[in-house]
Amino acid sequence: MIQISGLSKTFGGDRGPVRVLDNIELNVPEGSLFTLLGPSGCGKTTTLRCVAGLEKPTGGEIHLNGQTVYSSSARVWVPAERRHVGMVFQSYAIWPHMTVIENVVYPLEAKRVGTAERARRAKEVLEKVGLAELADRPATQLSGGQQQRVALARALVARPQVLLFDEPLSNLDAKLREQLRIEIVTLQKEFGITSLYVTHDQEEALAISDQIAIMRDGEILEIGDPATLYETPAYKFSAAFLGLANFIDGRVVSAMGDSVEISTPIGAFKCGNPHRLAVGSECNLFFRPESVWIEAPNASIHVNRLQVQVQSRMYLGHTVDLRLKAGDYPIRAKVPPRQIPEMGSTAFIGIDPDSCIALAAEPAQYAQQARQFAA
Ligand code: ATP
Repeated sequence: MIQISGLSKTFGGDRGPVRVLDNIELNVPEGSLFTLLGPSGCGKTTTLRCVAGLEKPTGGEIHLNGQTVYSSSARVWVPAERRHVGMVFQSYAIWPHMTVIENVVYPLEAKRVGTAERARRAKEVLEKVGLAELADRPATQLSGGQQQRVALARALVARPQVLLFDEPLSNLDAKLREQLRIEIVTLQKEFGITSLYVTHDQEEALAISDQIAIMRDGEILEIGDPATLYETPAYKFSAAFLGLANFIDGRVVSAMGDSVEISTPIGAFKCGNPHRLAVGSECNLFFRPESVWIEAPNASIHVNRLQVQVQSRMYLGHTVDLRLKAGDYPIRAKVPPRQIPEMGSTAFIGIDPDSCIALAAEPAQYAQQARQFAA
């Protein structure tokens, strides 16, 4: 279990101190995989390095499996080599002058594990990562994916109490990334090692995580399981960062239980209200492109129905990606490849009231950032 509370970090700089982590609070339950997700520079790696003991925080506390490894108030600082933490980096960081098996047994030599036990554990873990056949090959003669498997094997062999991953798949091509992320999750679950994973790739985060923390400007914005964050984020920023998103400015005009009616410049909408916005609140109607369908022009249902101009369409095999415009609002839709409206034509779309929600309006300084990631 990883427990972080009140964690802060300030770096000194030419133009004075810069606070890069501000009051980080998170709990990673035993055996789970927890991901820090956010744009470049938001503080993901610094958080990870503080847990590893590679960076000294400015304040707060870090506990690993109940042991305090850092506390500013109690003046505790456990050095990296005594934290029993395994790390897998983007750059593989394996020893080029050693063979595969020499790389993997290295942490056990440092821990003075006996020769026979070292060999047994190294072979076992190489089997698990599918590299048993390549045990005696020089590390330099491996592909990127194989090198990252060696790095994973080397992290696992020491049986750390916590595994830390810093963008481990960023240097690999798309197909290999997909394959390796399945392998990482399978091994992480099999070994049951509590893991903290850093990425800026939202699809990777959604695919592998038990829980995700969305970070922005050194703070944790919100934490949730992948489906909850993707479907009902609390912030426009998270909604846009986690995938293609449509937003329409509006105001809550009435509330009925879990749903609300929103008035917008392009009509009234019914949608979910998971964050309990009050009547009168400025808000954003939020829906994903896959929640849109094409309506027949003469359809009798008029809830959440919109007239749009078809600006472009791209056939992608399993789906058609449409760029539409409703009034001044660009709308992105992904629809099945039938009933594809003509380019330049006027069409009607529907949005399921159960698949759209009201989000609180974002402070002005973040509105631009959210737009940048949105559809
Ligand atoms: P990326 O995805 O680009 O790796 P990140 O979210 O991991 O980004 P960090 O590497 O944690 O971000 O950096 C957070 C902020 O701290 C950045 O603004 C970075 O420039 C700054 N920073 C990191 N290390 C140092 C350092 N040693 N000295 C000064 N500033 C630093």
